Amino acid sequence: MNEHTEALRAALARLRSKHLEEFRRLVEVPSVSTEGRGIDEAAKTVAGLLAERGFSTEIRPTAGNPVVCAWGGNADGPTLLFYEHYDVQPVEPLEEWTTEPFAITERDGKYFGRGTADTKGHIMCRIAAIDAVREVFGKDPIRYVFMIEGEEEVGSPNLESFIHTHARDFGADGCLWEFGGVDEEGRPSVTLGLKGIASVELRAQVPSRDVHSSFGAVIDNPLYRLAAAIASLRDDEGRVTIDGFYDDVRPLTEREIQAIEDESRRGNNLKAEYGLDRFLGDASGFELNRRLNAEPCVNVNGIHGGWGGPGTKTVLPSKGIAKLDFRLVPDQDPVKIVDALRAHLSNRGFADIEVVMLAGEGPGRTSLDDPFVEIVKQAARDAYEMEPTIHVSSAGTGPAAPFADVLRVPFATLGCAYPGSRGHAPDENIRIPDFENAKLSTALVIAGMAR
Ligand SMILES: [Zn+2]
Repeated sequence: MNEHTEALRAALARLRSKHLEEFRRLVEVPSVSTEGRGIDEAAKTVAGLLAERGFSTEIRPTAGNPVVCAWGGNADGPTLLFYEHYDVQPVEPLEEWTTEPFAITERDGKYFGRGTADTKGHIMCRIAAIDAVREVFGKDPIRYVFMIEGEEEVGSPNLESFIHTHARDFGADGCLWEFGGVDEEGRPSVTLGLKGIASVELRAQVPSRDVHSSFGAVIDNPLYRLAAAIASLRDDEGRVTIDGFYDDVRPLTEREIQAIEDESRRGNNLKAEYGLDRFLGDASGFELNRRLNAEPCVNVNGIHGGWGGPGTKTVLPSKGIAKLDFRLVPDQDPVKIVDALRAHLSNRGFADIEVVMLAGEGPGRTSLDDPFVEIVKQAARDAYEMEPTIHVSSAGTGPAAPFADVLRVPFATLGCAYPGSRGHAPDENIRIPDFENAKLSTALVIAGMAR
């Protein structure tokens, strides 16, 4: 138990209305990156909140939206990096919002508004924690660095090159990630990794133009070519059949296996939620969680071509396309995986199918042996009075690779969302007690690093 827990909780309670006012200012800026709205205003608002607290701030440009950078605190202390984003998802369909999306409305013990959970609530938790620590300690015990990007909701296309260019300004001993929260039981989740992704389009063309389907007796069909090519990528239980696909997969450590075993004891309701009879490979218990945490996979996102309208059209289409994504784990490399896909297709007689890489992000995972992980776990325990669930990795993707490989900083999640937060959807919200606990747990990470 951290001896500062109760003092920090009391300081946060005293500062609560000030922080709520600042939170309102953040949520009121409609910073929808995909629509290019409110970006400069959001960057200035966030930078302003940090400058008011004595941080040295810079809004650094990228090829897309700028990154808000801030440095402050005790220059001689250990450094905590906060990775956040000031952009949000669009609010449509507007009619499904109970109240105004770009405002905070308090209702049923929750704060509603776009960005409350994803992720302006997290920016506010970090700022509130710094204030509370200043009150209790009478100073900044550690050094703080903020990296707040404006393109997370469109896939962080410029963050990796930004980190490569500015790496020396963001060295740190630990990093709190931009999302986080509690599970159905209110138990805090600490996630230590993110999968990578490689997104590709497959393009097939057989005849030079659409032809009458009577020619199907002698002319091959691009949709058959695509179907056969896609079928060759995976077996029925989800194992990818591309040569060399698993070569770079980093084996799990004993501690990671133990964490996945602990996580699988918590159970889940995925089958009911998604209406499933079974999982791929009949995975259950440990194997189910191992796959979600640490198994790469391939998905078909869509196949398009020919006639899909009402009734019939006896056509043999000229072209077809398929969109695929690969979810990758350490130490797989998206470009290498796409090269392996090309080699696979050409070796299996599909050299005519064109492979276009659309996007790629590397995976990243923090070692369970890193001392920062213990600090985060202890902070969660003290704030929530519950043992946190450790996730070796999220099943999802984020820009983790440059943090793991360039900055070499251990990162972890701790935050204010819950399973009903409706991120990206109408009526996005956080519960007020979760918000308070997330502020407190962030403050306890700072107190833990100060030791
Ligand atoms: Zn999001």
